[in-house]
Amino acid sequence: MIVQSRKMENIPFSPIRKIFAEVEKLKKEGLDIIGLGIGEPDFATPSHITEAMAAATRGGATHYTANKGILGLREAVCRKLKVDDGLEYDPEEIICTVGVSEGVFVSLSSFLDPGDEVLVPDPSWVSYSHIPVMNGAVPKGYPLREENDFQIDVADLERLLTPKTKILVILDPSNPVGSVQEKDTLEKVAEFAVRNDLLVISDEIYEKIIYDGKKHISIASFPGMRERTIVLNGFAKAYAMTGWRIGYIAAPAELVAVMNRMHMYIVTHTGVQAQWGALAALEGPQDPVVEMVEEFRKRRDFVCRRIGEMKKVSCRVPGGAFYVFLNIRETGMNAEDFTRFLLHEAHVAVVPGTAFGAHGEGYVRISYAASLENLEKAMDRMENALRSL
Ligand code: PMP
Repeated sequence: MIVQSRKMENIPFSPIRKIFAEVEKLKKEGLDIIGLGIGEPDFATPSHITEAMAAATRGGATHYTANKGILGLREAVCRKLKVDDGLEYDPEEIICTVGVSEGVFVSLSSFLDPGDEVLVPDPSWVSYSHIPVMNGAVPKGYPLREENDFQIDVADLERLLTPKTKILVILDPSNPVGSVQEKDTLEKVAEFAVRNDLLVISDEIYEKIIYDGKKHISIASFPGMRERTIVLNGFAKAYAMTGWRIGYIAAPAELVAVMNRMHMYIVTHTGVQAQWGALAALEGPQDPVVEMVEEFRKRRDFVCRRIGEMKKVSCRVPGGAFYVFLNIRETGMNAEDFTRFLLHEAHVAVVPGTAFGAHGEGYVRISYAASLENLEKAMDRMENALRSL
């Protein structure tokens, strides 16, 4: 009999993907399910990006590239980091990855030994707690509390810190809670990381999806942070390029040298077509991003207004990403039961907060990356279902 490796024993299938599969099954059975589960922009990739990829492919971009990716893309990433974040990187300090997902895997796996501890937001996007486990390391969830506006509380980090703590992960803006860390919060977190000589992994994939005139600040830009931060970013969310599988890592040369060895043996490099598409995304007009973010803002405002009128549920107005973290405590149901209730009574699919960590109990994540028409239908159905409680 072939048995799985010990490191895979405690790795479940992603609960988000599980719901995605269940929704597809119910849809096939003829039910009209509105999926607000998956975190995927419903927009098509802007056409100039698709066209640039097609032209590059026709022009012969069908061969292997450098492990880190084509130089033009890495140079464009460096320009972006300089202009948007005030960060200076050399193109040799950039690795183009198979989505941010690969960046998460490579950054954690290149620096974790068995027994090492990682401070991870709880709740947070699922990979951050499972990949440390695959490495024999221990994720320690630091709570993001609603009453604290889902800001990081350094007192929690201090409490969870041990001599084995090696990495601190931050997601800003956050999936699943949609919070944006304030400048003074980041300042305190940076000071904590420097004082305790931690490596920081900063996932900035939602950086461009931010509202109310706020601007994202990279934690790598604080004093003493560039040399200890691995910035992860990508194209899936900002440019509606989820299926392309392209992201990047930016980090100091010594850290990149380690990660590039792992990256090389896992994937050689990310797909050349995706790289040409990403280059067009960075160098082309940015108005499609502005337009998509404006559309997300309208949807956010709509969903939050409707939730405000409902019984037994509430939410904070998120400052970024495209998720509302719905507080369901007053319903008396736990997150999984409420998710099932919504799926079967309202035919609306969401994700239980517990999929993202123990502190997600009492919440479900609603992704408003769906058309206003579908959101309106979903909110009507949810309101009706809640009335029956
Ligand atoms: N990081 C976060 C915080 C995410 O929400 C996601 C996707 N849901 C990813 C990384 C993965 O992104 P990609 O599709 O580029 O692999």
